[in-house]
Amino acid sequence: MEALEQNLYLSHLLEEAVSLGIGLSEDQAAAMLKHLSLVIEVNKRVNLTRITDVDEAITLHIVDSVVLRRYFPSGAQSFLDIGTGAGFPGIPLAIATGAKATLIDATRKKCDAVASFVAELGLENCTVINMRAEELAKVSPAFFDVVVARAVAAGATIVEYAAPLLAQGGQLILAKGRIADEEAAAAIKAGEICGLENVSRETFDLPKDRGMRTVMIFKKVGEPKIKLPRNVGMAQHHPLA
Ligand code: SAH
Repeated sequence: MEALEQNLYLSHLLEEAVSLGIGLSEDQAAAMLKHLSLVIEVNKRVNLTRITDVDEAITLHIVDSVVLRRYFPSGAQSFLDIGTGAGFPGIPLAIATGAKATLIDATRKKCDAVASFVAELGLENCTVINMRAEELAKVSPAFFDVVVARAVAAGATIVEYAAPLLAQGGQLILAKGRIADEEAAAAIKAGEICGLENVSRETFDLPKDRGMRTVMIFKKVGEPKIKLPRNVGMAQHHPLA
């Protein structure tokens, strides 16, 4: 990006984040823009995103990611991003919170790309792992203060993925474009089976009329009524509700 453009993008990002209640330092915003420019560059060779217009991507990728900081409980030390794709929301959230971040994705080429972004940005608080959520739950159970997932799967599926990975009292931040009433009800029911209680369901509009977003928050309050994780693919293909 040219210097002039870079400044313009920086002020767009800072303004849009503030409009959603998120204050960022210029250094944080610059690091997020650098991530985005790396994504756009690598996307020419490896399919990571269909959003390639920078102005649009600032809202739809960066702002849509950092806004989730609002839902981090104070004192959260660690978070897991399930299905990070090109590093969203994991990388902007790692920059914004400074918490210890674990970014996982089932697709190796996406993980390779995200690992290269993390190295290039010098983000020492980020670990990238090429693994499915169901497999990570076997090796790192009850490990994370926060689990985030944006646009990864149906609500009930995400709830089941998150349950064994969350520490007791930890929170799942489930972010999607729209969550229909039936999907929300199924996620809540799956939560009851998995020991997660639904705390809130909120919708808001992104800046520049770039769409509506829904965030559901669940808290780990008990033990699951079934043995988790179930075998790989079960949560996706045979959800609990
Ligand atoms: N969160 C990103 C990417 C969404 S695409 C964003 O909002 O831009 C969904 C991603 O989830 C894909 O990259 C896919 O590989 C990954 N994924 C789907 N199921 C998964 C699972 N069970 N474990 C880990 N990653 C998964």
